[in-house]
Amino acid sequence: MTSRDARLWFEVALLPSGWARSVRVRVRDGWIAEVEHDVTASDDDERHHAIALPGLANVHSHGFQRAMAGLTGQRGPENDNFWTWREVMYHFVGRLGPDDVQAISALAFVEMLESGFTRVGEFHYVHHAVDGRPYDDVGELAAQVVAAAEQTGIGLTLLPVFYAHASFGELPPSPGQRRFVCGLDDFERLLDAAEQHARRLPDAVVGVAPHSLRAVNPRELAAVAALRPHAPLHIHAAEQVREVEDCVAWSGQRPVAWLLDHADVDARWCLVHATHIDDAEIRGIVDRGAVVGLCPVTESDLGDGIFPALPYTARGGRFGIGTDSNVMIDAAVELRTLEYGQRLLHRSRNVLASRTGASTGRTLFDAALAGGAQAVGRRASGPTGISPGEPADVFTLDPTHVGLIGRSGDAILDSWIFGTRSSPVDRVWRHGHCVVRRGRHVARDAVESRFKVAVQRLASN
Ligand SMILES: [Zn+2]
Repeated sequence: MTSRDARLWFEVALLPSGWARSVRVRVRDGWIAEVEHDVTASDDDERHHAIALPGLANVHSHGFQRAMAGLTGQRGPENDNFWTWREVMYHFVGRLGPDDVQAISALAFVEMLESGFTRVGEFHYVHHAVDGRPYDDVGELAAQVVAAAEQTGIGLTLLPVFYAHASFGELPPSPGQRRFVCGLDDFERLLDAAEQHARRLPDAVVGVAPHSLRAVNPRELAAVAALRPHAPLHIHAAEQVREVEDCVAWSGQRPVAWLLDHADVDARWCLVHATHIDDAEIRGIVDRGAVVGLCPVTESDLGDGIFPALPYTARGGRFGIGTDSNVMIDAAVELRTLEYGQRLLHRSRNVLASRTGASTGRTLFDAALAGGAQAVGRRASGPTGISPGEPADVFTLDPTHVGLIGRSGDAILDSWIFGTRSSPVDRVWRHGHCVVRRGRHVARDAVESRFKVAVQRLASN
């Protein structure tokens, strides 16, 4: 890996102030120290005749699920949906060993970096051995996720998940959930262990993740939130219609409405999915400054429904994007799917562009950059992006890519997100290290080899 100190010069870059030409970025110890534009490259500069963009946060991932892609494509006997998908996932989880978690997560992280994600919010819920007993080190599987981040260089926001019940009303967990469940005392030990392991990384963040209102009762939710009162807090909410109906039957309220009334939802909260929300819930989320974690590819794959992005963003709602089940990992495709879902819903074009004349790609990119940074606990004191004080998390697009020929300004983002099949992502720097060159992660060969061994072993079991 290259030095964490560097002088990078780019022909074009997207800065917080907008598009700029001839940009020099000085990197010190992995952080951006200075940004200049309209400067001639000097002999000391590492020159890149490329388009530099700030790295995006992937706010929601379950890394190990990468190896399940393509295994859930057969129609079940009845109405195939999220719940039948979940049974396949539980079966898959029943075979995963610690080495598998590391090998599969590492490939997922490589693919994220290659697509322009430089940090991942890993919603980490498999904690125990196959028989449900804790490992000798209760943070064993968290350590495997940390190791995968270390191998690949991705920024990690680790979100250990608290999971206690099968559904609303504290239903006892099913056998398929035994690797996830623990009591509050055990969870506190698990969180301590995860923090200990994450210290190996240069700028890891550890948050807390009460799994969902299905899996956590009100007392447990308050206790988990209080364990780390300033850390990111992520929770699955209102992904499925049945979940909303069950929540209404349990409490008389919809999940997000319940959270807004009974929990201190604020800017550290990320409501993952929030697919099924009404106008009052939209107002509540926006007023509290929380982020919604949208995972459009997974939400499409699972048939969750379509998030009401138009009224939400019109009120100034913040969102990040996530790859969730990792069925396919690509930042541009997530943004494209988000907009295309809205076009199909509203039978209209450029639905999420911020105003008349604004670019859809630019609107989506700016929103995902800012909302993503907030959700993964990387809120900058200054503007988010290629700016002094920010981590040197930058990626470039190749201006000679066939999809980007003749493009300038916001048309670059519209072309990348909506008009390219092969990825134009060229290089990626993470915390000052160049980890992707010519679109390929520097450790891809080794990571792929370990992934293949793990998947072949899982397939033969
Ligand atoms: Zn999820």
